[in-house]
Amino acid sequence: MTGLSLAYNLQEHNITIFDKSWRPGGRVSTRKHDNYLFDHGAHYLSTNHSVNQLSEVISRYNLGQEIEIDFATDYLKNIKTRKKIIIGQNGINSIPKSIFDNIKLKSFFNSKIIKISKKNNILSLFSEKEEFKNFDYVLICIPYLQSKELSKDLIDFTQFINEPSYDPIHTVMLSYKDINNISIKAGLNLHKDISFFINQNIKFNKLSHDCWVLNMSSEYTNNNIDIHKTELEKYAQSIFEKTFGIRKEISFIKSHRWLYAQTRVSYNSISKKNWINSKDNKLFLSGDWVLGKSLSDAWDAGQKLSHYIKILSV
Ligand SMILES: Cc1cc2nc3c(=O)[nH]c(=O)nc-3n(C[C@H](O)[C@H](O)[C@H](O)COP(=O)(O)OP(=O)(O)OC[C@H]3O[C@@H](n4cnc5c(N)ncnc54)[C@H](O)[C@@H]3O)c2cc1C
Repeated sequence: MTGLSLAYNLQEHNITIFDKSWRPGGRVSTRKHDNYLFDHGAHYLSTNHSVNQLSEVISRYNLGQEIEIDFATDYLKNIKTRKKIIIGQNGINSIPKSIFDNIKLKSFFNSKIIKISKKNNILSLFSEKEEFKNFDYVLICIPYLQSKELSKDLIDFTQFINEPSYDPIHTVMLSYKDINNISIKAGLNLHKDISFFINQNIKFNKLSHDCWVLNMSSEYTNNNIDIHKTELEKYAQSIFEKTFGIRKEISFIKSHRWLYAQTRVSYNSISKKNWINSKDNKLFLSGDWVLGKSLSDAWDAGQKLSHYIKILSV
């Protein structure tokens, strides 16, 4: 979302996108397994985010829909409410995918950048297979630690006493052949080890199975970072079934570890700055970690950096 925001705002420039993944969206991810669909990274966009441009883009291209669901603000304390959320028209990844399709960029997917070099003020990028030459600017929009590793020869990181940080999250996707009668569709604090749960049928109305995503808490994930997937899945399943009294047989279960899931300490909160740059203003680092933990923060971070690039290029 940060990279797309930059590309959207800098369309007058000749931009090329490189992504190690096979598709745009990063952590805004929709996964299809057989007949099951899961938004297993970002779940929804909050209705009260304050990034106006993102709302304009979503409405201009008709990318989102607002739905209202029964939501547990704190499941363990039995605090419930009706909550409005914004979801994608076809899963959350349809939002970045459609933005990408609409701005028509030169792009290289499945292209992990492993090195950046500078000669005579001109930057080059290296993937595992190729060299890409002649860039005036390089804007790196990936999790902080990874961007630090990639740019350490061109930016002096010893100047940073405090650094932004992330929480990791194990997510578990699970599905039942028959629909369970669970009225609460999403919520926080399902269990001391499960910080969030959300039903997927509210997003994908063609789903015939009952599909759910559980986020293990960051504390649990940190303490069990290398847990065997089967052990994690069995544990999450047993909590879920016990909590909702489910006796039906599970038809699908899979987990994923997000090492850099959500920003814990943002760069702006420790520095009051909105990006990191090399001294010569050629290389920039941005990402959700600059401002916060949501996809609207990612868009906002990209938009803020784009204003500066526009000034630099005049
Ligand atoms: C489990 C989970 C739940 C979440 N829930 C929500 C939610 O409900 N609502 C919300 O608003 N936000 C949520 N978020 C946060 C939201 O997904 C992120 O804030 C946002 O997507 C970050 O966008 P980004 O562009 O900064 O980074 P990313 O999405 O991480 O994008 C980085 C991109 O860079 C690519 N990349 C990385 N390294 C390289 C490399 N070396 N070379 C080339 N490409 C590279 C990646 O493939 C990726 O496409 C959640 C995140 C997770 C993981």
